Amino acid sequence: MRRPPSAVCTLLVSLLLACGRKADLVITGGMVWTGLSTGRGQPGVVAVADGKILAVGDSAEIARYVGAKTEILRAEGGLVMPGFADGHTHFVDGGFQLASVDLRDAATPEEFIRRLKDYAAERIPGEWITGGDWDHERWPGAPLPQRDWIDSVTPNNPVFVNRLDGHMALANTAAIRAAGVTRNTATPAGGEIARDPSTGEPLGIFKDQAMGLISQAAPPPTPEQRDAALARALAHAASLGVTATANMSASWADLASYRRMRQAGRMTLRVAVYLPLDQWRAVAESVSRSGQGDDWVRIGGVKGYVDGSAGSRTAYFFEPFSDSAGYAGLMQHSEAELRTWIGGADSAGLQVAVHAIGDRANALILAIYDSVARAHGARDRRFRVEHAQHLRPQEIPRFGALRVVPSMQPYHAIDDGRWLLKRIGPVRIRTTYAFRSLIDADAPLAFGSDWTVAPLDPVLGVYAAVTRRTLDGRNPRGWVPEQKITVGEALRAYTYGNAWAVFMEQKWGALAAGRYADIVVLDRDLFALPPDSLDGAKVRYTIVGGKVVYRKP
Ligand SMILES: [Zn+2]
Repeated sequence: MRRPPSAVCTLLVSLLLACGRKADLVITGGMVWTGLSTGRGQPGVVAVADGKILAVGDSAEIARYVGAKTEILRAEGGLVMPGFADGHTHFVDGGFQLASVDLRDAATPEEFIRRLKDYAAERIPGEWITGGDWDHERWPGAPLPQRDWIDSVTPNNPVFVNRLDGHMALANTAAIRAAGVTRNTATPAGGEIARDPSTGEPLGIFKDQAMGLISQAAPPPTPEQRDAALARALAHAASLGVTATANMSASWADLASYRRMRQAGRMTLRVAVYLPLDQWRAVAESVSRSGQGDDWVRIGGVKGYVDGSAGSRTAYFFEPFSDSAGYAGLMQHSEAELRTWIGGADSAGLQVAVHAIGDRANALILAIYDSVARAHGARDRRFRVEHAQHLRPQEIPRFGALRVVPSMQPYHAIDDGRWLLKRIGPVRIRTTYAFRSLIDADAPLAFGSDWTVAPLDPVLGVYAAVTRRTLDGRNPRGWVPEQKITVGEALRAYTYGNAWAVFMEQKWGALAAGRYADIVVLDRDLFALPPDSLDGAKVRYTIVGGKVVYRKP
């Protein structure tokens, strides 16, 4: 009687194949942190074949995988770890920003104006100037910019440059005219227009939902311009060891650009694309028609907003801002709208991510998530709160209990930590960027940059989470130091944490046989560095799907 091949036979055959297989790539001489725990790395060797990790072990164990064609990469004592995943970027926008006017570190209004003048001088008349990422909190007295600062230096170009948090932007007169906005234009719900108190004329600053009044007038980039921006962003990410990201608030045009890049075999990072929450129906239809995508470019889900930002004073709090009597921020959408959209998206099986900064915005979104989950029944849904920045103590354990991802950006802590005390006072800052408390509450923490709001470099994020030293040097022992975490905890939030947050933890986020060979080799072992010099570590190699996509020059 003939018997079908047994499971034992199948196993033997695959073992034989594995034994005979040679590695395409072997990384030696490094400290290997697999990402499977938060403890430090160990000396070790990683072997890669066919885009996946073949084995992790010591040099004797790996020797048998080395063949004539195996490429050997030397880590020279640096850290070999899973590629960094950035849980929250505006990735394609970042590619545009790399080629746009850079206002981020303009330290005075004069410098802000000079940079715009120089940039505008090289543009063709009529071309819109956008991006910028200015930060008025750097300026003495922190005045908001106005259109009359820049009208005379930008006479031929509409300008609409945003604050680095993306929650407000400055328009010049040419842009306001092009958009048809006048003193009679009504302020949209969920937004603000800075106006001259006596005439009602717009002064140039548009916040949150009011920003669309101006931006709708700017011509959208062509597909070629978008692809070029994406290519710039991919190269930038590879140079920083970023091998995966979640692109938040992406447009359909961004998704199309990713798909073209995937088609051309030019993706060097894995992306989960989150489209606007209020378009959940169209997203669900797209997924049921043509699927989520593949392991390079996937529709991750939908992303919405509760509130604005602390920097723009539009984050939604229970108590008023400490420096703005009686005012406690705004909601960009009504609670009823949010409930309808989130309920709809969840019943369509989409993952939901929602931006919440203020403590009241966070309490509200957790309540909505909880009630939607109860109403729709148990499912592995992994709701996400983007930023989860200011939490009341009672909200912290709910992230663990509900398995809701706090998707947080540690660099914001050392940036906003410069001025948050004056804005929200000494009590609320204790549970602001509450990394320690969230980990202790078993919350599934994921880290990212929010690029372009902050630099994409994840090493800076690790430095920020571990030291909490603010950018102004005023908190050498850490700003709210009881919320510091360890290097291993920060790295885990940048690897496994993000893989879990996009349902990919079986495929990447750790160095283990069978996972994708998405690996970064740093020139130093982060576990061995004094915390203050963590930010000096540089990427030696970035490997995605077994291919080296960046080598330190
Ligand atoms: Zn963002």
